[in-house]
Formats: sequence, C-alpha cells, structure tokens
Amino acid sequence: MSTVLTNQELLSQNQELQRQLDEANDTIEAIRTGQVDALIVKAGGGHEVYTLKSADQTYRVFIEKMAEGAVTLDEKGIVLYSNLRFALMLNLPLEKVIGAKFETFVPAAFREGFLYLMQRGWMAETKGEISLSNVYQQEIPFLLSLNTLPLNGEATLSIILTDLTLQKETEHRLKLQNEQLKEARQNADNLNNELENIVQERTKDLFMSQEHFKFLADNIPVIVWTAYPDGSTDYFNKRWCQYTGLTVKQSIDWGWQHVIHPDDLEKTIQVWKKSVETGQPYEIEYRFKGAENGQYRWHLGHAIPFKDESGQIIKWFGTGTDIEDQKKEMEKRDEFISIASHELKTPLTSAKGYIQLIEAYQKEVLPVTVKTFVKKANDSLNKLQTLVNDLLDVSKIQAGKLEFGVERLNLGNLIITCVENATHIYPKSLIVNCYTGDFIVTGNFERLEQVLMNLISNAVKYSNNDHPIDINAEQRNGYVNVSVTDRGIGLTEPQMARIFERFYRVEDKKYLTSGLGMGLYISSEIIKAHGGFMSVKSVFNEGSTFNFNLPLI
Ligand code: ADP
Repeated sequence: MSTVLTNQELLSQNQELQRQLDEANDTIEAIRTGQVDALIVKAGGGHEVYTLKSADQTYRVFIEKMAEGAVTLDEKGIVLYSNLRFALMLNLPLEKVIGAKFETFVPAAFREGFLYLMQRGWMAETKGEISLSNVYQQEIPFLLSLNTLPLNGEATLSIILTDLTLQKETEHRLKLQNEQLKEARQNADNLNNELENIVQERTKDLFMSQEHFKFLADNIPVIVWTAYPDGSTDYFNKRWCQYTGLTVKQSIDWGWQHVIHPDDLEKTIQVWKKSVETGQPYEIEYRFKGAENGQYRWHLGHAIPFKDESGQIIKWFGTGTDIEDQKKEMEKRDEFISIASHELKTPLTSAKGYIQLIEAYQKEVLPVTVKTFVKKANDSLNKLQTLVNDLLDVSKIQAGKLEFGVERLNLGNLIITCVENATHIYPKSLIVNCYTGDFIVTGNFERLEQVLMNLISNAVKYSNNDHPIDINAEQRNGYVNVSVTDRGIGLTEPQMARIFERFYRVEDKKYLTSGLGMGLYISSEIIKAHGGFMSVKSVFNEGSTFNFNLPLI
C-alpha cells in the first residue's frame, strides 16, 4: 500500500536529500584533498569505520596537485578515481568523470589503439599516445602511462595522462622551423654553389689572364715589371732578367736599385716615390747596367697605376724601353746642330756686315731695284740669324750653358716695349695690352723679351687677324703672371702635354707654317732659368693662352 505524501512532506524530504548530497560531496572533497583519511559511515547494522587505504595522505595531495591527469580504472574500464586535473583537461565536472567508462572519452578513431594499450597495460607497464575528446568534442593529444595497481586486494589500472598539446604545437612549430631552415639551407647551398662556380670561373679567368700577361710580358722586347701600391716591385719579366742578369727574387722589392747607374739612382727613387704618393704616371730616363758587358744603357721608364672601381690603386704596371740608340742619335744631332750653328754664325755675321756696308755706301746713288734687293737680303739674313740664334740657344741649353746676366727690371715696361715692337712687325694684327702697373722682377731683359716676342709671334702665326691678341699681366701668389691669349687654332690635350718639348710641332696639314719647334722649348727653359714656370690653356679650334710666371721681388 502506497502512502501519498503531502507537498510539505515532499519538500522537506527533498531538502533532506539535498543536504545529504552536499555532505557527501564535502566528504569526497575532504578525502580527495587529504583532509580526512577515515570515515564513519552509518550502515544498517550501526556505524562502520572506513579507512582510506588506497593512498596515504601525502600521495593523495601530490596526485591532486600534479600537472598530469591521474585516473584509476577497474577491469571493466570504469573510472574509479580521477584527480581534478584530468577532469579539467576534458572540461568536465569531476563527478562526470568518476564512474564513467574511460572509453567514452576516446574518439572513435583512437578507440582501437586505446583498447590495445589497455590490454598491454594490464600485463605490464605501457606507454602510448592517443587523443581524447573534451566536452567540446575537441581532440587533445595525450601521453598515457599505464600500470596496474592493487587496490583493496583487487587489481586496478592506473593511468597518468600528460597533455601533449603544447609539446605537439612546439613539435609542429619546430617541424615548420626545421622545414624553413632546410629550405634556407638549401637556398644557401644553391647560392654557395653558384658563388663557387663564379669563383672557379673567375679564378680560371684570372689564371688565364695572368698566364696571358706573363706570356705577353715575357715575349715583348721591353722590360716589364709590376709593383704593389706602396711602390715595392713584385714581378719582372724575362727580358729584365736576361738584360740585368738578376733573378726575379733578387730584383723584387727594391732589389732593382743595384743595376741603376749611381748618377741616376737618387733621382729615380725620388720620381718613383712621388708617383707612388700622388698616383701620377711615372716617367723617367735612367741607365741600367747590362749583365753581358757591364755597360750601362739608357732606358725610358714608364709606369701607370691600375685602379679598382673605388679609384684605389691596386697595382703599378711598368715598362723600360731601351733608348740608348735614340739617345746616341739625339746626341749626334745635338752635336751637329751645335757645330752647324757655330759654323753658320761667322759667315752670317759677315754677310750682314756687307749688306750694312752696301746700305751705307752712297745710299742715294743706288738704283731703287738694288735698294729693294738689299732690303730683302737684309730681311732674309735677319730670319736666318733668328734661326741660327735659336739653334745656338738649343745647343747651349742641352749643354747646360744657357747663361745670362740678370738685373732688377720692371716687367711692365718690357711688355709695353714688346707690344710696340709687335705692332710694327705685325701691322695687320691687333695686339692689345690689357694691364696697367709695375711688376718688378730679377731677370735678363733681352731673354725675357725673347720669350714674350716668341709668344706674340706664335699667337699671330696660329690665328687669323679677325680677333685681337690680348696681353695681360697680374700678380698671383708672389708671382707675376704674363699671358698671351689668341682666338686661333687651339690645341688638343695631348698636344698641350708635349708643347714645351724640344722640336715638337703640331702636324696640322690645314695650317702649314714654317718653324722648327724650338721657340717654346727655349722660352720655357729661359723662364725656368729665371725661377719661374710656363703653362698653357687651350681649346681646340677656339684659341690658346700661353702664360709665364716669374717670382716678384
Ligand atoms: P714653331 O717654330 O714651330 O712655332 P714653337 O716652339 O714656337 O715652334 O711652337 C711649337 C708648336 O706649338 C708649333 O709648331 C705649333 O704647332 C704650336 N703652337 C705654338 N703656339 C701656338 C698657338 N698660339 N696656337 C696654336 N698652336 C701653337
């Protein structure tokens, strides 16, 4: 017979049950956290004491606190015990884990693997990786360590679960990084191979070009050498070794000095050091001793710097050309010029004397035609005299005997005189004196007049009469600079570089003029002998300015 309960009775029964449930939950929590290790339970036959033999307090606390999940299963795979950590790992309340079949947390794909693990776990300590699904059906990778554990005389299976999510992510990231690293290494390898190929090619090229250079250098009839940027030589060709009898080893560095003529040594070192310092091409004439007969022969030394992209000198390439024969020829020519000009001077002077006598002799009775012939003869003799004088000057300069007396003079006056003279000599040209002032120097009036007249006559000779010729003088850094400017044919750069050389003339078929290329050479030597220097500025087809500079007092 069933008893019908009133609402009031049902409510109070429900409250009683709720209280008992709370009490049971508190008790479970107390057992789990190790606060109690024995329970007194009211049973049908009175109170019974249950001691918690399965784990002592220390271990229970430890298991609750550890970072891994810990569960104990009975032989049916039911969870007898779980720590809170494992429940949290699955986002489930603990009471949903305890009492549940563990298999239910294993996704279908891993179930077979799990059953196999469990089977082995019951036999021996086993480890394996499977995924479990949490409450949101997300799969979490775990490492399971299974072992049997006797509990109250019965065998249970304990499982320690380590969440592998972080490890897997790290592994994944590592794998990715490894792949990237592999790719980068592959790229680096490829690049390396490419570079190696380039280097090999370049080395081959370099070797080839070195071989070519050596082959060429050893087979030309000229001395060839190379030097480091600091000026010490590092290579000499066969020709050098044959001529000097020195080995490359004896010659490199500064060893070459031993075969230079003692009179040329100091100058050679000076000029070479200057080129090394400034990077300017090296050019010098010096004598080297030949091994064959111990005789010195003149050589023309020449070297140019080889620079890299940044303009840094990386090597000097030098040559030495035997100019002994040319030198001898030049000496013979100079000798001839000297003798010829001296020999010419005497008859020329007497011819001029006779002409003067004819001019002076009963001038008024001479027929007009004879007078004209006498004038022409006089003009020709004057030209011849200028030429002979020039030749004599060249000989003197060559012999180091260009001598003249000096005095204190006003270059301003000298310029006025020259401009006046030139205006008479070249009546068709407009010669303009563009300066005013005094410029006091020490010098020889006739010689300086010779220089300025030479510059003016050149300006007239190498331009037409359409434009004026400007004569200027100004003070510059303790020097007086005298310039003669024309708007004539002008000069190219290479021509300018050689213009003050002895006997140098520009070969211009359009502009055929007489001359021997002595005027500028003599002029520059005269200016040098005065402690000054000459220079030229010119634009081809536009005109030139020739300057000489003399130190002011
Ligand atoms: P030359 O007797 O041949 O004139 P110079 O020594 O005076 O001898 O001059 C040498 C060369 O320089 C000339 O042959 C000429 O080609 C060139 N030269 C000299 N002056 C000028 C100038 N004002 N304009 C152009 N070229 C010149």
